[in-house]
Amino acid sequence: MSENTSKIAIFPGSFDPITEGHVEIAVRGLSLFDKVIVAVGVNSQKKYLFSLEDRMKMLQETFATYPNIEIAQYQELTVSFAQKKQAKFVLRGLRTPADMEYEQPIALLNQHLFPEIETVCLFSKPQYAHISSTIVREIIKYGGNTQGLVPQAVIRHIEAAKNA
Ligand code: ADP
Repeated sequence: MSENTSKIAIFPGSFDPITEGHVEIAVRGLSLFDKVIVAVGVNSQKKYLFSLEDRMKMLQETFATYPNIEIAQYQELTVSFAQKKQAKFVLRGLRTPADMEYEQPIALLNQHLFPEIETVCLFSKPQYAHISSTIVREIIKYGGNTQGLVPQAVIRHIEAAKNA
């Protein structure tokens, strides 16, 4: 299928680090789209726990067995990046009403900027709704167990960093 007719979605985020909640949304996105581009938004003002390089590596390892999931990084408006990638959809995950309140104005603004790009939100499965990168970062900082919260690639990365 050509890039022009195939359904491509950008799944943007910080992924600091990727969690099982993110994985589930990206993979579920494949039932709607031909390709999902998991895209790390680079914000030079923001402080991250994991470097961009490490976040990219963990994403690449996590989705290595999914040929229709691509990993990318960008430093521009999400919708501009989506256009460059010929993506007509922005995929987001919703855990709570607070997520919904956060997402709505962004989706409306994106619609204003690029009406041809649709934001598609998927509700998180209940078993993942309590997981956030923020909570995972706290657990990592205090040496807690992140099993079941993040993919194995992240756990391997944390272990390697501990033994370095
Ligand atoms: P951002 O910095 O843009 O909030 P995140 O990396 O935290 O980026 O999240 C990217 C997307 O994944 C957002 O749409 C967010 O709501 C969604 N998300 C995060 N955690 C979960 C989860 N546990 N279940 C479903 N969606 C999630």
